[in-house]
Amino acid sequence: MTIRHLNCASMNPLAATRMVAHCLLVERPEGLLLVDTGFGAADCADPKRLGRPFRALVRPVLDPAETAVAQVRALGHDPADVTDIALTHLDLDHVGGLADFPAARVHVFADELDAALHPTLREKGRYLDVQRAHGPRWVTHDVPGDEWFGFGSVTALADDVLLIPLQGHTRGHCGVAVRRPDGGWLLHAGDSYFHASEKQSEPAAPYSLRAFQVLMGVDNKRRVANQERLRELQRSHSDEVTVFCAHDASELAVFAVE
Ligand SMILES: [Zn+2]
Repeated sequence: MTIRHLNCASMNPLAATRMVAHCLLVERPEGLLLVDTGFGAADCADPKRLGRPFRALVRPVLDPAETAVAQVRALGHDPADVTDIALTHLDLDHVGGLADFPAARVHVFADELDAALHPTLREKGRYLDVQRAHGPRWVTHDVPGDEWFGFGSVTALADDVLLIPLQGHTRGHCGVAVRRPDGGWLLHAGDSYFHASEKQSEPAAPYSLRAFQVLMGVDNKRRVANQERLRELQRSHSDEVTVFCAHDASELAVFAVE
């Protein structure tokens, strides 16, 4: 099994320095697994569909070469070999690539799919029906599994891919834990935090980025509590679990192929 760390969407938001969309491509004997998808080919072909407020605030680069499908091909794979996609949540910068893998099973928390399909007025702008118009093969999960380093877990795929409840940024937001080939775990914490310093005991994220997170959080009490739990996970188990978030470019830069 090989795990590759990909950037599937560069963004130059007004509130922060360059952001990436940190995705994983897990090459398993039984098929390829993606964790999150960034933007897709159709987003690059028609940026307008992302909406004017998002484009003005987040300023996505939309380079077709950064899409997951282009990178899967460049690695010598057939996109049809992507059998499964696990999603941290359904915000537009995480699910644009779904349509490039229409046959894949798409694993998501039941609460998150419900939020995207039945958004409140406040949630409406973040979920785009057009990115899901092809009819993804949803596999929803909500059955509690074993405890995982003090967190609840839900088994998404066998024992080596788990969804870890981390609600707050969105209703059904989760982390995706993937067992590393050499032992230990990776935890893709999605948008639980945005800046690498927020993993430390005294986070020092720029004010604008903290304000952005409050603006985007649907349940900020829970979001802040989950950030604290992630810091505790770092303090107690950094030898066994490597945590990273979706958008911090410095976190992506330290990973090679494993
Ligand atoms: Zn995001």
